[in-house]
Amino acid sequence: MSDKQKSDVSKPNLGKIPEPPNPSEEPRTTFSAVGVPTGTPPSDKRTSESLRDEPGRSEVSPKSSLEDIVSLAKRRGFVYQGSDIYGGMAGIYDFGPYGAELLNNIKKAWWKANVYRKDNYVGLDSAMFKHPKVWDASGHTSGFSDPLAECKKCNTRIRVDKELEKIGIAADEKMSEAELNKLFDENRDKIKCAKCGEQDFSAVRAFNLLVKSNLGDFTGKDEEPVYLPGEASQGIYLNYKNVLNSARVKIPFGIAQINKAFRNEISPRNFLFRTREFEQADTELFVKPNENKEAYEQIKQDRWSWYLDIGIKEENLRWKQHENLVFYASDAWDIEYNFPSLGFDEIEGIHDRTDYDLTQHMKFSGTDLSYVDAQTKEKYIPWILETSMGLGRVFMAVLSDAYQIETMESGDQRTVLKFKPELAPVRYAVFPLLKNKPELVAKAREVYEKLSEKYVCEFDDNGNIGKRYRRQDEIGTPYCVTIDFDTLDDDSVTLRDRDTTDQKRVEIGRLVRDDLL
Ligand code: ATP
Repeated sequence: MSDKQKSDVSKPNLGKIPEPPNPSEEPRTTFSAVGVPTGTPPSDKRTSESLRDEPGRSEVSPKSSLEDIVSLAKRRGFVYQGSDIYGGMAGIYDFGPYGAELLNNIKKAWWKANVYRKDNYVGLDSAMFKHPKVWDASGHTSGFSDPLAECKKCNTRIRVDKELEKIGIAADEKMSEAELNKLFDENRDKIKCAKCGEQDFSAVRAFNLLVKSNLGDFTGKDEEPVYLPGEASQGIYLNYKNVLNSARVKIPFGIAQINKAFRNEISPRNFLFRTREFEQADTELFVKPNENKEAYEQIKQDRWSWYLDIGIKEENLRWKQHENLVFYASDAWDIEYNFPSLGFDEIEGIHDRTDYDLTQHMKFSGTDLSYVDAQTKEKYIPWILETSMGLGRVFMAVLSDAYQIETMESGDQRTVLKFKPELAPVRYAVFPLLKNKPELVAKAREVYEKLSEKYVCEFDDNGNIGKRYRRQDEIGTPYCVTIDFDTLDDDSVTLRDRDTTDQKRVEIGRLVRDDLL
């Protein structure tokens, strides 16, 4: 571990999840907790009728803050600070039991839309480590940097382009060091250190974001370091020829993959928004030169529709076109999401990259990456249309979009995550009405076993039904299934809908066959 990394570990943690203001007083239920009846049994023999007393919903609270989302994410096991017991690491997060499910469901929805539903796209899973020359060819070793300045009093580092943007000055990381220093000097009096309030910063210097490893280096000299991937897409370019030769594809065809990326971000912040380790879901469409425009528009439309399909509200999305294009790019747009407390910011980039990537790899590797059209015998370097989505940012968008505080008719409040059922970490929660009635518990276990063949389910026999509903609302479970004494007679259960809180009687067979709604 380098000195820099050491100092980051012990530094106050910029991205640390604050302790929730109001930790849940409810005992946690595990995914597969087996109900053992304990506690004082109520004397009456209750049936489905008594489940219908859940107070209805009424008002919805105004938009939540990022702190609310972060607090819920930690309290309910969606996201934890990385290496929490050692004080955490800036910009590193772990996904907990519900977070891992939600993340997987987002990935599945993306893979389905981009691989299974497109007959000219194939999937890929490339290794993270790549030949060191890959990052020379891609321009990352020379140009993948952010502009950094350091507070001379407390050594806090700032990302200068982002600080300039905050005060309304158009700046970005692609500008030269000289350009950024000029802009920074003109505006130093408007930028304060967030930690100590001083305005005494060093000059701006470009800081390379690639993270090094010592893979295969037994000399300790670090002469040709193997980098961790700065972006996931390079694995696709490297395998373009392999896929072409093995997967019976022809232009235009696409390759999709989900893979990790690592960046030595100067100031990781805003929860999952800017982290040092994250996942990207990328697609690259290989097209004939100059046949890019129509395909690019189609890709933009498809990506916009995907966000609506996974349940993101359209009013929380917008397009932003890049003003400063890199020299090889023909067009570039971002899809932005309106994050609570942060406002609109990028979740995905859609780039028309011409033939730059394959030409560079051809030059650096000496391998011919041109394409020969089997019919016309035309030979060319394909152009590339790329989509690159950050999974952490989309996870945060999905969580924020689903989060609601509702005031019930009783005056009580409920926190509810209104995920699309396909994304919800748990599809069905199964409750025996009373945990001290072995016949109800056994029947509930039987229903749980059947449903969990198809779906992620949770078994909960702890506390009254209202409290169990609240726990499931907080993790976004769309359906709660209660087994009562009527179930033993007629094989029907009470099915409660998360969003409406309506309850209806349904046969168990209909749940299992999935012909519910
Ligand atoms: P930014 O300008 O915010 O640094 P970028 O333009 O460098 O982002 P890309 O290199 O285009 O981002 O990466 C594609 C996607 O990867 C982004 O749209 C974003 O969702 C995600 N991403 C990039 N950097 C990070 C990061 N540090 N933490 C989490 N996600 C990230």
